[in-house]
Amino acid sequence: MSHSPSKLLLIYTGGTIGMIKDYETNALKAFDFENIKERIPELQLVDCQVETISFEQPIDSSDMTPDLWRRIAEIIESRYADYDGFVVLTGTDTMSYTASALSFMLEYLRKPVIFTGSQLPIGDLRTDAKENLITAIQVASAQEDGVAKVQEVALYFEYKLYRANRTTKVSSEQFEAFESPNFPHLAESGVHLTFNDSILRRLKADEKGKELVVRMEMSSDVVILKLFPGITETTVRHVLSIPGLKGVVLETYGAGNAPTASWFLECLSDAIKAGIRIVNVTQCVSGSVLQGLYAASAGMKQIGVISGRDITTESALAKLRYLLPFDFSREEFKTHFERPLRGELSEF
Ligand code: ASP
Repeated sequence: MSHSPSKLLLIYTGGTIGMIKDYETNALKAFDFENIKERIPELQLVDCQVETISFEQPIDSSDMTPDLWRRIAEIIESRYADYDGFVVLTGTDTMSYTASALSFMLEYLRKPVIFTGSQLPIGDLRTDAKENLITAIQVASAQEDGVAKVQEVALYFEYKLYRANRTTKVSSEQFEAFESPNFPHLAESGVHLTFNDSILRRLKADEKGKELVVRMEMSSDVVILKLFPGITETTVRHVLSIPGLKGVVLETYGAGNAPTASWFLECLSDAIKAGIRIVNVTQCVSGSVLQGLYAASAGMKQIGVISGRDITTESALAKLRYLLPFDFSREEFKTHFERPLRGELSEF
């Protein structure tokens, strides 16, 4: 059965992928993305209609902010009915943060939102941009029985499609710049584009009739506190006393372990009593927090530190920002955080 080709919107926010070398200064600068088809003539060959929209001022993703996440979300919301899918181009440096945030902001999503970028600019002879962009477009236009294959926020990079809120950037040099250490790939691109059908996200039965809801409110009052041997009470107290602070991603060791010194638990306990939500996330690249496995984490469990389980730091930060504006009680907040909302942590 034939169906009309997909119509996709390509959203360019900035990053290496859309840069060319200025031959006078030798520095990389953004090119006019409206001319993308001249830069990548292969785009004429893809079996779908691609339209583009670009940030007026493309950015290096180091300058990404929650306001700009809202800009991306607005673009998607206002054109949601007009397109079958969206490909978002951002710099790789903070792509996992942005894509994780969008996965929470776009509730009841039923269309593909595929993030990609590249390590080398599009004009470079050895660029990875063409493959990343063309396959991301193919992923976003993939359908089965007239229904989008991917119905979530995903990230495509170097032959692999990942669940976006499971990813982290692991290399500043390799073409294989991302990994999702605690979750399998959603698809792999080889001679065929092979989807891992059983893990593609689908709305639950009771969510099926719901329309897209875009959650623009993302709390700013959050911080990441990474533990290191020798961290002092003064440092921990100062961070936890930031005026207006509401949420902390606490990066701990191994299976969620932290110093057992009484001052440490007291600092955390005082903050929790003051209404601050603290989430325990491991510094390890893979594996899960298991509070209570060691004595070095049992105390945190007792005082009400939330387990981030196998969530990434990027996703934990996004989830905190997303959940805080709901004003849940301490118990409700913990329950919502510790269960998967967008596939960002594993069911145990
Ligand atoms: N610094 C760039 C950015 O993240 C790197 C990249 O695009 O890969 O915007």
